[in-house]
Amino acid sequence: MKTSKYNKFFESDDGTKLAYNCMTGGFATLTEQKYRQVQDILASPHTYRFNTKAKKELRDKLLVGGFLIEDGIDELDILKVRNRNARFDSRRLKLTILPTLKCNFRCVYCYEARKNATMSPEIQNGLVEFVKKKIETVESMTTNWYGGEPLMVLNIIEYLRNEFEKSCTANGVQYNPGGIITNGYLLKKPIAQRLKNMGIETVQVTLDGPKDVHDQYHAVGILKTISIRVNTDKTNAHRVAEVMDALEERGLKQKVSIYFAKVMAHTEACANVSGSCLKDQEYSDWEVQLTKLGWEKGFNLTKYPRIKFNYCEGDQVNAFVVGPTGYLYKCWSDPGDTDEAVGHVCDPQKYQEKKKNVYKWLAWDVFDRTECRECDVLPICMGGCPFVGLRMKSKTRGACEEWRHNLLDMLKLYYNHYRHTSQNKKNQAKK
Ligand code: SF4
Ligand code: SF4
Repeated sequence: MKTSKYNKFFESDDGTKLAYNCMTGGFATLTEQKYRQVQDILASPHTYRFNTKAKKELRDKLLVGGFLIEDGIDELDILKVRNRNARFDSRRLKLTILPTLKCNFRCVYCYEARKNATMSPEIQNGLVEFVKKKIETVESMTTNWYGGEPLMVLNIIEYLRNEFEKSCTANGVQYNPGGIITNGYLLKKPIAQRLKNMGIETVQVTLDGPKDVHDQYHAVGILKTISIRVNTDKTNAHRVAEVMDALEERGLKQKVSIYFAKVMAHTEACANVSGSCLKDQEYSDWEVQLTKLGWEKGFNLTKYPRIKFNYCEGDQVNAFVVGPTGYLYKCWSDPGDTDEAVGHVCDPQKYQEKKKNVYKWLAWDVFDRTECRECDVLPICMGGCPFVGLRMKSKTRGACEEWRHNLLDMLKLYYNHYRHTSQNKKNQAKK
């Protein structure tokens, strides 16, 4: 046996010894005595004498948690196999559909090129036919809905979703209508009910500041999951507390989950915000502060260092973003920029013309990057956003996730939160 390269041992603020493994996501608290014992085992797993039942049990737990691994196994090989399976599994079809680029907001950073295209009936039918052909070779299909503001064209979503379901049912393919990303402005009860009827019950609402928190969230009791993404940059990081207060005032604290996301100057359409974007380390520090604040205020925060097999749909062989004019793309940042397209729903010939773009995305490989191969958070980062990675001048690493900078601080917060909530539960049970 040997020691995992991805072990993290550290202390919480109250002095408790903590252990986390990035390969498995295993997280444990250790008594002082157990901690010393574990360190002895990991220092020399070959010669350590597992001569009692308790020691053998501890060894087995360390194996399950990924802290110890079998000789002859290379963790990088495991990551490569997981990654390739996830990326090149063609049994699952994933479509992110932008039925319109129209929007009732104009956020300065919005990276959809400022075009107002909406999917015409001809393109809708082309997409339905495209799906009919594709699903002959898949076992499952998932759609996600995005824009522009997709709730402005709910009738198009209803039509497409129903046609997809019919085709999937006819072919024995499992269909998941997926979730929707919206600015939330139109999220009133009747619309929420229509989404629910369509099986679209996971809604992500993006907010930039307290002024964006509306009274529309009557939808909360109707839909299964509403998560609030709070976009964070230099101009609003210090106002995130006000966003939380605004959500609380509307009685939403316990009903939605929130997470923070860094605003990035992805494309030409949003290049004007590059000066206000936070640098990696700065944003990672903010994320720790905001997470602490969110938990202190009693919010449900969802981000956790989970293992990733691949990064996103952009690096997967059978995942496409469908723009409103029918062009197919690999990345959510590209719709509107037809130079970056990888095909068109109505024109199979376009796939041949655009093959160079397909190769570019599918040839992206985190294991080509020397820093990533050596990186101790690789299993929870997987090279970050490929769109950014492909454009970076340096080819030694990808677009580092925040975990590179704040993993231990975030894990300490998770531990504190877990300790407080379990203590509160115990206290309540006693009452
Ligand atoms: S490549 Fe980056 S921007 Fe594109 S879909 Fe993936 S995570 Fe999003
Ligand atoms: S992109 Fe950065 S954080 Fe991610 S694996 Fe590569 S070096 Fe590590």
